[in-house]
Amino acid sequence: MARKPKAPAHPETLCAHAGSGAGGEFRSLNAPIYMTSTFALKESGEVGPYFYTREGNPTRAALERALCELEGGAVAVATAAGVAAETTALSLFPAGSNVIAGKALYGGTLRLFREAFEPRGLSFTFVDMRDAKAVAAAVRPDTRCLWIETPTNPLLNLVDIAAMAKIASAEKIITVVDGTFASPCFQKPLALGADVVVHSTTKYINGHSDVVGGAVIARSAELGRKLASLARTLGTPGSPFDAFLVLRGIKTLALRMQAHERAATALARFLETRIEVERVYYPGLESHPQHELAKRQMTGFGGMLAFDLKGGKPAVMRLFRRVRLFTPAASLGGVESLISHPPSLSHSALTPKERKAAGIREGLVRVSCGIEHADDLVADMKQALSLL
Ligand code: PLP
Repeated sequence: MARKPKAPAHPETLCAHAGSGAGGEFRSLNAPIYMTSTFALKESGEVGPYFYTREGNPTRAALERALCELEGGAVAVATAAGVAAETTALSLFPAGSNVIAGKALYGGTLRLFREAFEPRGLSFTFVDMRDAKAVAAAVRPDTRCLWIETPTNPLLNLVDIAAMAKIASAEKIITVVDGTFASPCFQKPLALGADVVVHSTTKYINGHSDVVGGAVIARSAELGRKLASLARTLGTPGSPFDAFLVLRGIKTLALRMQAHERAATALARFLETRIEVERVYYPGLESHPQHELAKRQMTGFGGMLAFDLKGGKPAVMRLFRRVRLFTPAASLGGVESLISHPPSLSHSALTPKERKAAGIREGLVRVSCGIEHADDLVADMKQALSLL
């Protein structure tokens, strides 16, 4: 189906239309699910536009177009998990390369660094990426990548993407930004100078807690071609069925992000008033040490927050038994609110010493605010905290 010329779009419009116009024989509005592993050759024996689903699939291609539109990228690859997107991006770097990364990252990313890439010859330098000078000082002749997670999981620290891109361009280093917590609706790393964005689409981009998926998106066609070729070689691309679900999720992404943020703002402000709570981490709060950067770098503060509960892990477990609207579970970014204890779940791969160094305390609670009414979430948290 011929694509209409694009008008400049607000996020709601962009999301509602992203990847549509898939067309095909019946001019369907939505991309059909091409649930096939292979495609018949032409009668001439030549290969058609698609020949094997690991190499390419029309449903996945529709999602990849949508991801390029959302991020402003040249090439996207939709992968089988966020970690598969990370694997694809890290595979750009040959053995002997050094990667500079933040100290407080998603635990699964650290595990991937340590258990898969370090043994194969990559070295990792961990610095506090809130400090651009410390990052610049850590650059070595063999540094090939700045690995940036912003906002970070679970403490909602921010990294100044433009400042990192400046360091990297001077040194010809590739900047990779894990933008999972912000989604493309609230943060555009490529426009800020980053080279590659990775996402766990499991989270906000799909948004319905029914897919594990990921995406890697490149600003330049050249880097994008390398990533797409690596993905086909590594076998990291995702399934057409999952691509369809993620495409459906994207249609409401902008609206969902607004609702997540409304809920998170109300809950963060409420938690700041409670004596049971030692500290609240949410970039939208004036008390967040990087609130000014959040306002500059992001167009919304997101739906994730964390707080330190007095009384450590036993108090956290009591809270989990008492909340009704927050399901204690791993993951985030779905329409329903989830609550978790990072030291025992997402960051259990870190040693207690590493968690301490990253600022992750035993009483830390992470909340993924869903799209429920903010008043209901605040009321539920209030009754649960008052029973502690
Ligand atoms: N990046 C971040 C920031 C995450 O929080 C996660 C998972 O929680 C991932 C990457 C990995 O994504 P997946 O679980 O889809 O592999």
